[in-house]
Amino acid sequence: MRQYIVAGNWKMNKSLEDGLKLASEVINIANDEVKSNVNIVLCPPFTHLTSVKKLIGDSKNIFLGAQNVSNKKSGAYTGEISVEMLKSVGVDYVIIGHSERREYFNESNEMLAEKTNLVLEAGMVPIFCMGETLAQREQGIHIDFVKSQITDSLFHLVDTEFRKVVLAYEPIWAIGTGVTASSEQAQEMHLMIRNHIASKYGQATADAITIQYGGSCKASNAVELFDCPDIDGGLIGGAALVAREFVEVVKAAK
Ligand code: PEP
Repeated sequence: MRQYIVAGNWKMNKSLEDGLKLASEVINIANDEVKSNVNIVLCPPFTHLTSVKKLIGDSKNIFLGAQNVSNKKSGAYTGEISVEMLKSVGVDYVIIGHSERREYFNESNEMLAEKTNLVLEAGMVPIFCMGETLAQREQGIHIDFVKSQITDSLFHLVDTEFRKVVLAYEPIWAIGTGVTASSEQAQEMHLMIRNHIASKYGQATADAITIQYGGSCKASNAVELFDCPDIDGGLIGGAALVAREFVEVVKAAK
């Protein structure tokens, strides 16, 4: 059975004090109320990782995630954070290729392949993001575009490494806009992604991969989205900034 995973991407929000308040609320409510074995991943800014890790402690099914990592191993790269650094503070998951990083920081498919390799080598789990613009969807090239993002950044991996990757389909037009993909649109793309994986690695691998949905997912629409057969949880932005809302999204993933 595939692992359900709901990750909260805080982006560049929350002071340390506010972030710790949010993390402890999520952890407390989740420890009390979340009975299913969905993995919860908290992805605060880099500056908060160590402190959030301490709060997580040995909470069952709650993990620490980073929002980004350098594609360089170490050295003279001012301002960058390496996989080794993330590993040393207890990071379990690393978001790679979020559309905001692709768009504002010019992250290419090639660079994202390098990041994925480094994260896997360090023994952490990449959450690899992909998704189309509205213009691409309107032109009918959205499915081929998403497939090419996967092919170009991930299909060099051998099967055993590919199986460790979590995918997150995030249509750019749905991120932070309040407009979510319909469950039909999301399911269609998730199935295409799974079929694309099957064409390279076989059906057993495709069936084992967690594919999250992201894009204005919140408590009120999560149940419908997560009920789709090929949607295995979510990557959550805005709704992850309010503890009660986020935990309700987690509870929708069963
Ligand atoms: C995201 O940034 O990954 C995201 C899905 O954001 P939001 O939930 O706010 O659309």
